[in-house]
Amino acid sequence: MSGKHWPPGTQCVAKHDHTKPKAQELAFRKGDVVTIIEAVEGKGSYRARHNETGQEGLLAASALRERGAIRVDPKLSLMPWFHGKISGVEAVQELQPPEDGLFLVRESVRHPGDYVLCVSFGKEVIHYRVVHEENTLSIDSQQYFSNLIDMIEHYMKEQGAICTKLVKPKPKTGMKSAEEELAKAGWLLNLQHLTLGDRIGQGEFGDVLQGEYMGQKVAVKNIKCDVTAQAFLAETAAMTKLRHKNLVCLRGVILHNGLYIVMEFMSKGNLVNFLRTRGRALVPTQQLLLFALDVAQGMDYLESKKLVHRDLAARNILISEENVAKVSDFGLARVNPKGADATLLPVKWTAPEALKHNKFSSKSDVWSYGILLWETFSFGRAPYPKLSLKEVTELLEQGYRMEPPEGCLPAVYALMKSCWELEPGKRPSFKKITEKLQKELKHLRDPPGPARGRWAQPAKPHRFGLFD
Ligand code: ADP
Ligand code: MG
Repeated sequence: MSGKHWPPGTQCVAKHDHTKPKAQELAFRKGDVVTIIEAVEGKGSYRARHNETGQEGLLAASALRERGAIRVDPKLSLMPWFHGKISGVEAVQELQPPEDGLFLVRESVRHPGDYVLCVSFGKEVIHYRVVHEENTLSIDSQQYFSNLIDMIEHYMKEQGAICTKLVKPKPKTGMKSAEEELAKAGWLLNLQHLTLGDRIGQGEFGDVLQGEYMGQKVAVKNIKCDVTAQAFLAETAAMTKLRHKNLVCLRGVILHNGLYIVMEFMSKGNLVNFLRTRGRALVPTQQLLLFALDVAQGMDYLESKKLVHRDLAARNILISEENVAKVSDFGLARVNPKGADATLLPVKWTAPEALKHNKFSSKSDVWSYGILLWETFSFGRAPYPKLSLKEVTELLEQGYRMEPPEGCLPAVYALMKSCWELEPGKRPSFKKITEKLQKELKHLRDPPGPARGRWAQPAKPHRFGLFD
């Protein structure tokens, strides 16, 4: 038994076929993904739900492996069939020997910025010019697509105006198909099981929609631009490594309409809106502390995985139905460390050394966490009210820091200030922050009043777990 204690909800991949199940057993094929419901005592088996068919049943632990992480690999491509700028002659060579429906896409040498779809058919290779018109792509000026991924997806299903349905992509040398890798590892979801509903948010790179996947509520981020989708692939790959109660959980992805990133649904939206719409009257201090603690714990986990968030802010904290706060949006985590576009940085949240010298670290995340604490205890106000970005940068250098929000606990303000130490090394770790908040929560629950009876309060409280 090597570490097979999968808790309910674990996603596992079948190692082989099991097509003739006995009563109560689950049928599955190699590569199918199932969700663990519970372990069966002493049997070395699990009760699980099949992610495709929705059926429930028993299966042997030995038939399963836990869904693996996807390596963040620059060779992983959403468009392995895209060969960049090669000539027509080179494309023909790539598509040898001839095979009906074997295809690639190249960038036109003569018309830079335009694409050419090259398809093997009969003994020939046919080149279709893809025309760019107002942000759309088309081969025949009848069917329009917003990106190459969609166009290829379409012509793999329908022949339309071209010589044959596209059958087989010819990958560029060294490129790995993201679709295949995701499927192998168990992260590719099935479009047929997804129902999309209302738009619940607008991200920088695409809409966020509510949806349902196999009977469970999900949120779906749709990234339409193929270049951005490719960039998000790295972010998504990073997410496959992470699992923590205070990080928004990735369910999987679908390569459709660009890219769908399917996440657990956080019904109470982001922390800023949560606090603004309810306010002081409805959200007690204890709840604010609990949110702050949730975030600190999620960040402590990220820090332990050596991941820097870079965009920690209340707008990127989401609240579940049960009022659990979770960190989301590892959006900036993937941005190339060198030459990141400084104009895109969230200045009022970013530590001085990160702004000036591009020195991002868990300690710069701690600075942002201090701002997030301020946002939380001011019920969603925007930080540094009335100050311009330039003023903020200058004032911080002179040692200015924000005043405590109205009614903020002194210990919490002290914590904020420690996060805003100019020298990164002087800021607390997320572990330390977690401990401080747990102590505050404990105080709030049983304030150290005058000693009752013969038992005095210990002068120095011991360390508490959150729920003891
Ligand atoms: P971006 O960082 O690209 O702007 P976000 O991931 O922050 O996009 O999403 C934008 C908004 O969509 C969020 O502020 C939130 O209101 C909503 N949203 C995002 N993810 C979820 C989710 N998993 N559950 C519920 N709402 C979400
Ligand atoms: Mg965001």
